[in-house]
Amino acid sequence: MALKTQAPKQSAYDVVIIGGAIFGSSTAWFLSDNKDFNGSVLVIERDPTYEFASTSRTNSCMRQQFSAEINVKCSQFAADFVKNLRQYMGGDDRVPKLEIQNFGYMYLADNQAFADTLIENQDMQLKAGAGTQILTPEQIKEAYPFYNVDDIILGSINTVDEGYWDGITVFDWFRKSARERGIEYCQNEVVAMTKSANGERIESVTLKSGEVISCGQVVNASGPRAVLTSRMVGIEIPVEPRKRFTWIFQAENPLDRPLPLTIDPSGVHFRQEGTEYYLAGGHADYDPAPDYDDFEMDHDIWQDHIWPTMATRIPQFEAVKVTNEWAGHYAYNTFDHNAILGPHHIVKNFIFLNGFSGHGLQQSPAMGRGTAEMITYGEYRTLDLSDFGFDRIVKNSAFVEKAVI
Ligand SMILES: Cc1cc2nc3c(=O)[nH]c(=O)nc-3n(C[C@H](O)[C@H](O)[C@H](O)COP(=O)(O)OP(=O)(O)OC[C@H]3O[C@@H](n4cnc5c(N)ncnc54)[C@H](O)[C@@H]3O)c2cc1C
Repeated sequence: MALKTQAPKQSAYDVVIIGGAIFGSSTAWFLSDNKDFNGSVLVIERDPTYEFASTSRTNSCMRQQFSAEINVKCSQFAADFVKNLRQYMGGDDRVPKLEIQNFGYMYLADNQAFADTLIENQDMQLKAGAGTQILTPEQIKEAYPFYNVDDIILGSINTVDEGYWDGITVFDWFRKSARERGIEYCQNEVVAMTKSANGERIESVTLKSGEVISCGQVVNASGPRAVLTSRMVGIEIPVEPRKRFTWIFQAENPLDRPLPLTIDPSGVHFRQEGTEYYLAGGHADYDPAPDYDDFEMDHDIWQDHIWPTMATRIPQFEAVKVTNEWAGHYAYNTFDHNAILGPHHIVKNFIFLNGFSGHGLQQSPAMGRGTAEMITYGEYRTLDLSDFGFDRIVKNSAFVEKAVI
């Protein structure tokens, strides 16, 4: 499908954001909300239907159960932001009141090494203020009688600010409010960038329709295509697309209580979806980077892997009916599974907002706010997000997130 293009209103902007989905829009909104920022902002989005964006294909959950403390802090801000969206948006009574469906994430360990990791993570999470509980198989069975725990050593769950939230409504309000405050969105595609003679600044971005736009700072918010964008200025980043499948299903014999987002030791995950449905997610064992436009479903995975795994863990899922399914792309950081954030050390006005794998939606408020601070002040002012800096990749010093789904 040929994408339409639109010309920007000006030939120069203080900030150009490449990609208008949740990260581009979160950054745009936090810039518009920052009283110390008075610049002009252009958000360039190649497909404003967002049909194939990760943001539209997400499972929209948040959790506190990470191994890196800063990731817990980012999710805590997300929870506060979601629950108080209207207040954050200036008390505007058009903004809906949102809640988090706190069914929790249930990590199940079937081996001692993973059980030890969960215990270690719980220790840090409790210190960070999360309510993670470690459960014995008997305690799991008592709280959730539908699980088969025969092979399980322990489980880890937190039911405070952990579960489903309406990410698409937050995304809609980031965009709507940012536009109303004067941020310009333009349908176009960035196809090239020019640098200064010393190579330390991006001077302009070139659009598919031919316009050359001068820019003060450039934000790479292009999701799974992040590496294509960074290559336009000669920078390699370890971010690749990875295909992830989602299935929505109904059970002939529904569970008698909400199903936590269960992370089975096999890697398959499943959870409650509204009152009548369930959601399952997974991927193929062979997991290469797909083509950027490849969203084809693999129906065999459901039949051969996902459904049998679920039916073993929850025998009531022996009889289920799939009602919807889709494939989406993670922007997968192959280096250490954590976000890559902040300015490049040489091309100093090129700012990363990349590599969020499967936990980006919940990080969008904290990372968008931090990026707006970096653009405005040249430093983070609320949460210190410097651990996510690109320099760790240059130094080959991984900042690993172990709890990746
Ligand atoms: C199946 C699935 C389940 C997930 N579940 C969760 C979850 O439960 N919880 C959670 O927190 N996260 C989850 N995520 C992750 C989360 O959805 C993503 O991290 C987040 O949406 C990424 O947003 P983004 O703005 O970086 O990228 P995207 O949403 O992919 O947006 C990038 C945008 O950039 C545009 N673009 C790219 N290149 C250019 C260019 N050259 N010029 C102009 N525009 C360009 C694209 O058109 C696109 O709209 C999930 C992701 C998937 C795929």
